[in-house]
Amino acid sequence: MSQARGNLFILSAPSGAGKSSLINALLERHSDMKVSVSHTTRTPRPGEENGVHYHFVTQDEFKQVIADDGFLEWAQVFDNYYGTSKQSIEAQLANGIDVFLDIDWQGARQIRELVNDVRTIFIVPPSKQELESRLNNRGQDSAEVIKGRMAKAQSETSHYNEYDFLIVNDDFDTALYQLESIVFASRLAQANQALKHQSLLQDLLAD
Ligand code: 5GP
Repeated sequence: MSQARGNLFILSAPSGAGKSSLINALLERHSDMKVSVSHTTRTPRPGEENGVHYHFVTQDEFKQVIADDGFLEWAQVFDNYYGTSKQSIEAQLANGIDVFLDIDWQGARQIRELVNDVRTIFIVPPSKQELESRLNNRGQDSAEVIKGRMAKAQSETSHYNEYDFLIVNDDFDTALYQLESIVFASRLAQANQALKHQSLLQDLLAD
């Protein structure tokens, strides 16, 4: 059995759909899955750590990474810049780790152009009311920011049909099971399996 490359997944969702909690729960269960740590120019929220949740950088530092061609993709989301560095992803995929990109639709579009076998997943909340209440419950942003995010949520959601999979995050455990199922099914894709079980297949096909 040879080492298969990891799979690349993109998860997008309107803010408040529960995407980060789902990714965190998934990673807690599986040591062979990792989330890529993006660069951002936004300021850290309480509890966020540099290098863990994001690489928090200045606009100048961000522009330098662009100039050095260091991003696989980058986009302006709300009033800030976000980007996925090439460096972090490739080594993990080569080591058989499944990598998740928690990025917006603009980043997903760029990566679809570059990577053939990326699997893209869109997560939505069960209702508009529930989304609003989740955004309020965070208690970290002002009413004006929340209003802006509701509008952005609608605009992000309008891109759901560009994705391979759609999960409605109503019951958390069900959504987690559905996300896990997508990852497990992807690992069984014929192209992946053929690489991993090359010698078995050669043996089975030999006279
Ligand atoms: P937040 O500021 O709430 O952490 O993230 C805001 C939005 O930016 C989310 O939709 C998140 O998925 C997106 N985002 C985070 N990192 C990246 C990235 O590296 N690239 C792109 N295109 N979007 C990102």
